Amino acid sequence: MKYKTIKTDILVIGAGGAGIRAAIEAKISGLNTILLGKEVLGCAHTGMAMGGMNAAMVRPATPEFHAQITIEGGYFINNYKMVRVFAEEMPARIHDLESYGVIFDRLDNGEFYTWAGPKQKFPLNVCVGDYTGREMMQGLVDEARKLKIKYTDEFFVSKLLTVKERVVGAIGINIRNAETVVFQAKSVVLASGGAGRMYRVTTNAASNTGDGYAMALGAGAELIDMEMVQFHPTGMANTPSTLGVLVTEKTRAHGGILRNRKGERFMSKYYPKEMELAKRDEVSRSIYTEVALGLGTKNNAVYLHVDHWSKEKILEIIPDVYEQYKNTGVDISKEPMEIYPSMHHMMGGIKINEWGETIVPGLYATGEVAGGVHGANRLGGNSIAEGQVFGRRAGIAAAKFAKKNKFITLPKDKIKKEQQRIFSFVYRKFGVVPHTVEDKLKKVMWDKVGIFRDEKKLQQAKKEVAKLKKEARKMKTRTTLKERNRDLQDCLEIENMLVTAESVIEAAILRKESRGAHSRTDFPKTLEEWRKNIVVKNDNNKIVIEAISVIE
Ligand SMILES: Cc1cc2nc3c(=O)[nH]c(=O)nc-3n(C[C@H](O)[C@H](O)[C@H](O)COP(=O)(O)OP(=O)(O)OC[C@H]3O[C@@H](n4cnc5c(N)ncnc54)[C@H](O)[C@@H]3O)c2cc1C
Repeated sequence: MKYKTIKTDILVIGAGGAGIRAAIEAKISGLNTILLGKEVLGCAHTGMAMGGMNAAMVRPATPEFHAQITIEGGYFINNYKMVRVFAEEMPARIHDLESYGVIFDRLDNGEFYTWAGPKQKFPLNVCVGDYTGREMMQGLVDEARKLKIKYTDEFFVSKLLTVKERVVGAIGINIRNAETVVFQAKSVVLASGGAGRMYRVTTNAASNTGDGYAMALGAGAELIDMEMVQFHPTGMANTPSTLGVLVTEKTRAHGGILRNRKGERFMSKYYPKEMELAKRDEVSRSIYTEVALGLGTKNNAVYLHVDHWSKEKILEIIPDVYEQYKNTGVDISKEPMEIYPSMHHMMGGIKINEWGETIVPGLYATGEVAGGVHGANRLGGNSIAEGQVFGRRAGIAAAKFAKKNKFITLPKDKIKKEQQRIFSFVYRKFGVVPHTVEDKLKKVMWDKVGIFRDEKKLQQAKKEVAKLKKEARKMKTRTTLKERNRDLQDCLEIENMLVTAESVIEAAILRKESRGAHSRTDFPKTLEEWRKNIVVKNDNNKIVIEAISVIE
């Protein structure tokens, strides 16, 4: 089978906020850099970010305060070293973004407008309306274009290539014509985002299929905290076609009120002090419980009110949320929104140090695909921020590695094997339609690996995912077209989601306590002996897990 080879010093896989930031730094170092993503440049998931990003820009907020609440919010299993670097460097990254043309909201006196999310006694959230991600992506894309960074769009990387445990490049297909391309690189930065799509209800974009976790495991890297899956309390719940779409935390932070079907402000039962501004995991559990008690709406949701605000305030603070509901026939200045938790973020991910280094020489990771900063619960505004600090750092470190090391001859046997795997989905005679496997996976994850977990449900999920892995080997695309073949991309993504799901389930089974986003009804307490991180590895195609001490 033929393939094209492209040589580059540094390959950045993923063109969201973190990947573009890494590519900017790699390119500034003077080395050839290729950035690629599954979509057209500028359209990555990061563009959906709404509320803003945390940085100690305005006193009394300080980097120390930012670090402290990130660790408290993460239930003390964050990588403390990374958190300190993150909080310290974040203000400088805001200024970088400004230099790329991002115009953050400011007050009349010229100071940054900042708002306070959960745990923020001093406001940290810097924003551009409720469309911060869109504006940030525009600035990053402009900067990438200015630096003439090469971008390969609509490209799907299916596997990282390694030789003697060092990463030497990656292989994948051009989504438009299924041409195989092999990138030979001295170093690779993985910035491929999260895995929300393995859940039935999610806020995430279509590209979030966990490819990076599966590829990293396959290349010998470790994953950390995979059981920590964040459910955002407020996803849209009023129509099937908008199910799970995010309603930003900015809504509750500016006085949005939660009520059940009976009109009761139910947060007073669960978190009377924090009320609507309890942490995400806390509010999600409260909403889940209200609905389970039969106090939900007919759409199995609760109400989020901003109808006591003026229309001017709504249009100023949450214009996108207003539009989202207006498009479904609801005027939120007159009636409440129906909302329910939606899978939102992977706190865990590839285990890295504060320079984005993995244990695989030449392989770096950044953004949502990497773990460490958020611990057991991510604070709103810490994700697109994290991508800026550690994207820059991963770009610097990958460039250093590329300067010191030579290209390595590509492993032809592995390339052939991977091509056979990819095209087996197209050319086998009979098989299952990919989305049937995907639908089953989404249901298993939503029903059994959701907001509340227990041993029985997790063991069932483990069995069902193992069965689905076998079924997935028989997936077949509905056409043999070599042109754009969406089924082929689905097949590859489903295999990745299954590996990611397996990591989440194994880690969730091992953690016999409740902490942050991981709530076990059979182990409801948070236990000091479990102030640990869970590491997932791949040993000869078998998942191996262990608990390790927190990095302080
Ligand atoms: C609706 C919504 C609102 C949010 N609001 C906020 C907010 O206000 N503040 C905040 O801090 N966080 C927010 N978040 C979280 C935040 O947006 C994400 O965590 C963050 O943008 C992730 O950035 P990233 O660069 O790591 O990944 P992404 O932006 O997801 O980019 C991943 C890139 O990798 C590419 N990719 C993936 N797999 C492959 C593959 N196999 N081959 C090639 N390319 C691949 C994708 O195509 C994409 O280009 C929000 C999330 C959502 C869903």
